[in-house]
Amino acid sequence: MKVLVIGAGLEGVTSAWYLAQAGCEVTVVERRPGPGLETSFANGGQISVSHPEPWANPRAPGTILRWIGRDDAPLLFRPSLDGRQWRWGLAFLRECLPARTARNTAAIASLACYSRDQLRALRDATGLEYAAQTQGILHLFTTSRELVHARDHERILSRLGIRANLLTSAQAISLEPALAPLADRLKGALHGVDDESGDAHLFCRALAERAAAAGVTFLYDSAVYSMETLAGRVAGVRVLDSARRAGVLTADAFVVAAGSYSPALLARVGEALNIYPVKGYSVTAQIVDPERAPHLSLTDESRRVVCSRFGDRLRVAGTAELNGFDLSPNPARSNALVRWLEEHFPGVTHSRKAEHWCGLRPATPSNVPIIGRGRYDNLFLNAGHGTLGWTLACGSARALADIITGRKPEPEFPFRGLAR
Ligand SMILES: Cc1cc2nc3c(=O)[nH]c(=O)nc-3n(C[C@H](O)[C@H](O)[C@H](O)COP(=O)(O)OP(=O)(O)OC[C@H]3O[C@@H](n4cnc5c(N)ncnc54)[C@H](O)[C@@H]3O)c2cc1C
Repeated sequence: MKVLVIGAGLEGVTSAWYLAQAGCEVTVVERRPGPGLETSFANGGQISVSHPEPWANPRAPGTILRWIGRDDAPLLFRPSLDGRQWRWGLAFLRECLPARTARNTAAIASLACYSRDQLRALRDATGLEYAAQTQGILHLFTTSRELVHARDHERILSRLGIRANLLTSAQAISLEPALAPLADRLKGALHGVDDESGDAHLFCRALAERAAAAGVTFLYDSAVYSMETLAGRVAGVRVLDSARRAGVLTADAFVVAAGSYSPALLARVGEALNIYPVKGYSVTAQIVDPERAPHLSLTDESRRVVCSRFGDRLRVAGTAELNGFDLSPNPARSNALVRWLEEHFPGVTHSRKAEHWCGLRPATPSNVPIIGRGRYDNLFLNAGHGTLGWTLACGSARALADIITGRKPEPEFPFRGLAR
């Protein structure tokens, strides 16, 4: 079977890999000159199975209200006249209901566990190198209120089959000695034992290379600008290459993995996806004092910031801004990340020379990605992974490859168009 994948971010590259492994003849069309150059370029790096709870939870509306008007708020809503933004916002509020949060958390947890196992199997089979760290994630708590929430969180994770241990501040420091200077601020930590971290862009590049060696064709600098349908099927896609030459590509099946741009592409063929871009920032700095730099990946729960080490680089990422497709940098937001780095690990990195980046998380209101069948027989979707696209990539792609090749996907998850 010939399959055409649109997009070479985390979701597109992994889809191509698992489809090729399942015996399909795969072509990937990507508008950028290489894989993983948009949202998958400089994310927080966490394989965060221990954080399945979506942003849309019963505490979210209150928190968002508290942050209104602060330019450096972890979550910023910039109202616009864009009807899609309001539709998304209203659906987000609905997903904050306790029963919906519980259902969404369970679906994400199931896919996240499966995805981490797929990533491990892939790494074992291929020896892919992407600065992987496998000692877990430490969620840091600096207030007693957060610690109370952490106890509930530990119980919920345990019910979902996810291993996480609540640690005192001393225990956290003995696990991650780089936290020692923070001893007086730290109230405790939750250790996601089976979590990992790694550089998503390095991963995309390395996996795309392996996939190409296994026979996958990558067409870079090639943008899909329309899809053609005929008799209830997608017949082909129209593509423009960097020399502005137009062409039509045909296949037996089509996978849309175009991140935040998936809805625009699909709207033209009558498929409506409620995915909206949620902008986030990261700063990546060279480590100058390796002994004092953390090895484990960290999540600062009160500041909504994550920090991951990739060899001799330290990355801090976070913040969320509902501001359409605007990718212009907001210094107030990325400087807040530099300040976090300097406050928590002073003198450990060249923070003033850090590389600043921002990207658009392709977010559904529930943070549950859209994986499965589209409205045409041969159209498939792998998009809307929001805050967890790296965590969920291998599992989403493996499950989608199973669906396309007629197998039953393993995880308990609401796959689109699949009667369970
Ligand atoms: C600041 C930040 C921190 C994050 N931290 C984490 C984290 O720690 N852990 C985690 O799990 N997730 C994290 N994420 C989320 C994760 O990065 C995303 O969910 C993931 O990258 C989405 O991957 P994707 O393949 O869907 O989208 P993308 O990476 O955006 O890929 C889509 C691709 O499609 C291409 N494309 C679009 N339209 C077309 C077209 N018409 N024709 C051809 N090509 C097209 C684009 O060029 C792009 O390469 C973070 C995100 C941000 C912004």
